[in-house]
Amino acid sequence: MPLSDAEVLELRQKLETQDYLNAAIVSVARDLLEGEKLLRELKRCSRCREYLPVDDFAFNKAEADGFNRYCRNCCREYKALKRPKKLKKI
Ligand SMILES: [Zn+2]
Repeated sequence: MPLSDAEVLELRQKLETQDYLNAAIVSVARDLLEGEKLLRELKRCSRCREYLPVDDFAFNKAEADGFNRYCRNCCREYKALKRPKKLKKI
């Protein structure tokens, strides 16, 4: 027995809703994965408190994670502050 127009329409709507939900789930899952990946690749600087990519941190074997606690920018500023001006090369 063939389906009536109303039944076909209802089925189609159900399928579209299912598709929509599936797409939403996939997109949320993808966002979560991306977010987790981002978090794993980010490191928080102990000085400026910014979350930065690990590329922005110099290697430091003394640290547990192998990277400096300060980002490159902060390291530069910190060293510039610590270094006495009279020792600066002319
Ligand atoms: Zn910093």
